[in-house]
Order: sequence, then structure tokens, then C-alpha cells
Amino acid sequence: MSSNYKIGGILISEREICERVRSLAERIASDTAPGGDLLVVGILNGAAIFLSDLARHMPPELDVRIDFMAISSYGDSTQSSGAVRIVKDLGGGIEGKDVLIVEDIIDTGLTLSYLIDIMLTRKPARLRTCVLLDKHERRERPVEVDYCGFQIPDAFVAGYGLDCGGKWRHLPAIHVVELG
Ligand code: 5GP
Repeated sequence: MSSNYKIGGILISEREICERVRSLAERIASDTAPGGDLLVVGILNGAAIFLSDLARHMPPELDVRIDFMAISSYGDSTQSSGAVRIVKDLGGGIEGKDVLIVEDIIDTGLTLSYLIDIMLTRKPARLRTCVLLDKHERRERPVEVDYCGFQIPDAFVAGYGLDCGGKWRHLPAIHVVELG
């Protein structure tokens, strides 16, 4: 399907992302107990690049661990199916841990609310959420987001980890996707 689409103009520049990611990491670190442990859980594939930048801005005093989960909700389409399933689970348990879910984008909220429900059944000591992008006007399910990079309008976007039919994740900025 991506052949019907082309990469459009820049919505959020590389520089803006870089500055925002740094300040998010500082806020997360200052909200975490000094010397504490933090398990950062990235949601593949979209959050991989965001997480790797975010984690590298966290101070050495924090004991940061990184793990990944993969959840399928969109397939190759630009329409939300509402169906979500775990494709890859965490490497270990999270009971009693301070957990931060890192997601690329929240749209309807179905994916993140499903993930939060699953994580809470595993009894973390604390669960926080961090999303790079928020399409707030599209929300169908209320979700508590603790850290948000940018509120964006209702447009399909790609770049900085986000894809369109598997393409354009490698782009350093966030672009709008246009019909070709
Ligand atoms: P939600 O369940 O909140 O509707 O959707 C969350 C997921 O939808 C994200 O993790 C992402 O995979 C996908 N998604 C929603 N909007 C966009 C978008 O504009 N671009 C891309 N690449 N993915 C999106």
C-alpha cells in the first residue's frame, strides 16, 4: 500500500525532536527515585529509535534497564483495526519494578490502554507511560499519558521510527504522509 503514498513535508524537525527528547528524559529522571531502578519498555517497531535516544539522555545515576514488546494493531494499513495482540513479550517479569512504557504515538488509545491493562496485571511497583506523539482529537479510549513529546493534528505521519507500509522509519524528522 505504501506505493500509493509519498513522504510529505516535515511536521517536526530533527532539532525539535532532539531538544524535546532530552527534556523528556530529564523530567523522567527527576521523577524517578535517585539511584533507583527504571525498566524502560519500548514498543516495537515504532518506538525503537525514540527509546534509544531517550535512554541515552538518562543520567548514569539511574539504573536503567531496557526491554521491548511488540504489539500488532495496525498491520500495513493506515486505519486502526482496534485489534491488538502481543507479538513479542518481555524477556522477564516486572513485578515490583518501576516501569516506563515508551510508545511512538497514541491515536485512538486502544493500543496503550490494552498494554497498560496487561502490565498492571503483572503488578509493577509503578507504571508510567511516555509517548512521542499524541493525536489527541482521535482518542476513543481515555488513557493516562505521563510524558508526551508533541501533540499533533489528525494526519498520518512517518519518520523517526514511525513507518508507512514498513518504509521511512529511518528518516530523522517526522513527516506527513501524502497520497501519491
Ligand atoms: P492507537 O491504538 O492509539 O489507535 O494506535 C497506536 C498505534 O497506531 C501506534 O503504535 C502506531 O503503530 C499506529 N499509528 C497511529 N497513528 C499513526 C501515524 O500517524 N503514523 C504511523 N506510522 N503509525 C500510526
